Amino acid sequence: MAAYPPEPDRDSAEWWERVGRHEFAVQECDTCGLARFPARAFCAACRTEAWHWREVEPEGSVESWIVNHQPFMPGLPVPYLVVMIRLAAVPDCLVYGGWRGPRPPERGERVRATYTATCTAAGDRLTLVDWGPESGSR
Ligand SMILES: [Zn+2]
Repeated sequence: MAAYPPEPDRDSAEWWERVGRHEFAVQECDTCGLARFPARAFCAACRTEAWHWREVEPEGSVESWIVNHQPFMPGLPVPYLVVMIRLAAVPDCLVYGGWRGPRPPERGERVRATYTATCTAAGDRLTLVDWGPESGSR
């Protein structure tokens, strides 16, 4: 999948390090408690810059998905599914990732993260968070 993997930046570098250890976390605002993904420097609700990581179980339910048919990058086969997941531990927080199910997802389906090892364009190791059915065959 990762012909064009994401590149960690200032705000997301620690998130990628945690994912590399198979730890799943979201940022949580120190002022209003809003959980957010992806990593950003400040809270979109109250603009506070103080926040901390909150480790959560990487499980939730399928909120929505798209089937991408656009060949954004050479070598990245299309079509592929990108799912939006509502986290069970923080239902107001939506995250997204690749779909790793044996069939298309169903809305509301319980899912759990899977971790896929890949490399960045620069050749650094990188782990991706994908999602698949909570139980059953993958
Ligand atoms: Zn806030």
